[in-house]
Amino acid sequence: MPGRWTDRAAGLTLEAAAAPNETGAVAAAVHGAGASYVGRFAPSPTGPLHAGSLVAALASWLDARAHGGRWLVRIEDSDTPRCQPGTDRLILGQLAACGLLPDEPPWWQSSRGAAYQAALQQLLDAGLAYPCACTRQEIEAAWAARGVLRPRHAELVYPGTCRGGLHGRPARAWRFRTEGNLPSHADGVLTWHDRRLGVQRQDVAREVGDFVLKRADGLWAYQLAVVVDDAAQGITHVVRGEDLADNTARQILLQRALGVPTPHYLHTPLVRAADGQKLSKQNGARPLDLADPLVALRAAGAVLGLPGIGPVRSVADWLAAAVPAWSGIIRGFADGTQPRSP
Ligand SMILES: [Zn+2]
Repeated sequence: MPGRWTDRAAGLTLEAAAAPNETGAVAAAVHGAGASYVGRFAPSPTGPLHAGSLVAALASWLDARAHGGRWLVRIEDSDTPRCQPGTDRLILGQLAACGLLPDEPPWWQSSRGAAYQAALQQLLDAGLAYPCACTRQEIEAAWAARGVLRPRHAELVYPGTCRGGLHGRPARAWRFRTEGNLPSHADGVLTWHDRRLGVQRQDVAREVGDFVLKRADGLWAYQLAVVVDDAAQGITHVVRGEDLADNTARQILLQRALGVPTPHYLHTPLVRAADGQKLSKQNGARPLDLADPLVALRAAGAVLGLPGIGPVRSVADWLAAAVPAWSGIIRGFADGTQPRSP
């Protein structure tokens, strides 16, 4: 019922029960014939939208409209302890104030556990996932025995201790088997194309290792949830912040393992805080001031390299003018005439 979503925030009817495809084989969710465009914005409700997250929201909306496609919103609340109650509704209200209205009712990842479990089982049945009994301390000890210490602020690549079985230890987490899943045409390096950044490469087995699908605390890992949901929602184009580009190779491996299509990817420029880091709640990003949504939209548009849009009467008028401007930018990415960073 897309009509429901034409109302402003105050009139929104949010139904957590709206998420369909609660169960069923992931592989059954394939793109419709003709591969019509379906995009999405997938915020985590760990805090309200700020200037940085609006950039990704706006870019994904503009890209969907520029392609004549549909635009969906998915609340990525699978990491429950980090989510703040009520923030999902706050974010949906902020999007609505900016004229960014999803074409279908949003999904909540917290209601999708059965689908993630089905996907994990599919991977286990195929020998592409396995249980792991290791604690963080045991992983560090395994590397220390080989003379490798954990760099500060970095995760160690999993040493593969449980690949051959648990040997009576209890399962804590479930991991994806990266070795043996790699493309045969290259020396273990997965190559993918970003519409803005160009060709990207990652040796997942060596640089990331067998990554977690279900965590020791019982929560679903981001990588599995996002791949299952993108497939189930028929997402054809992912447009998101550049900080997530590093996850893409892992997600493509999972897509191949689950037999679902790989979307097209475009990673947007980040808004930097004063310290040069990505703007985030942790380094002082304030919630969007939506007293005048046009101010926030113009700032987000500038980060995306949109040319200045003259005086407009409303948010809707600004968005209408921004769509052809975005079309020009993505044509420029495609033919190499648009700088990758404004
Ligand atoms: Zn292990």
